[in-house]
Amino acid sequence: MRDYDDFERRLRELSLPNLEQDALGEVDGCAIYRLMVGGGPRAKRQVLITAGLHGDEPAGPESVLRFLYEYDATRYSNFGFLILPCINPFGYVHDTRENGTGIDLNRVFEVDNPPEEARLVKAAVAGERFDFAIDFHEDWEAAGFYFYEGRKSENWIGPEVTKNVESVCPIDREHDENDLLIADGVFKVDPGWGLQGFTPYLLAFHSDHVMICETPTSLPMRQRTAAHLKALETVLRHYDQANE
Ligand SMILES: [Zn+2]
Repeated sequence: MRDYDDFERRLRELSLPNLEQDALGEVDGCAIYRLMVGGGPRAKRQVLITAGLHGDEPAGPESVLRFLYEYDATRYSNFGFLILPCINPFGYVHDTRENGTGIDLNRVFEVDNPPEEARLVKAAVAGERFDFAIDFHEDWEAAGFYFYEGRKSENWIGPEVTKNVESVCPIDREHDENDLLIADGVFKVDPGWGLQGFTPYLLAFHSDHVMICETPTSLPMRQRTAAHLKALETVLRHYDQANE
């Protein structure tokens, strides 16, 4: 069992200039939060960061908090961030992949009558376009970090991401014949997944560039959050330099 009150307290105690927070709604008595930071007149890039869709993957929400603890407003002046730090509070508290009714929220985005968590997330991004979206996950069975990328231009940055992440976390190079391999530890978001998954849903309706980071749950938390943030940092640097 994890303590959601403690997670909420840490969100409340964040003291960043221009940080806005609100609750999208409540599920099972727990609020699902939305944070907005940056996004002033100089922000050229809109970024969506999401975590905690699967409740038993706690490095995602921890990475979001660490990103905000270490937030550098000067460094990120080109970016406006919309952040959903913990999409599945029931799963976070009870350490379950699924929500309180046993549903895998990563399979229900483009369905009739989605569960409340997915409905709230869809409402939060309705009408928005993001330069990129990044979703933090974990894998109980992985030996290292790996990365999924979906990009309409197919200008993949995953190889650069894994190269940088490898300085803080091993890369899991395992793959099988069903994977759409880009490079070691880098896979395409598979169109065969359909639009029920959150990331394919975002690629279809809200962004031309979507990514999923997976860290190995067996490693220490500090190392997993370092891996997620190294990946995010690489993508931010790419967009800072790119003229696309
Ligand atoms: Zn997951």
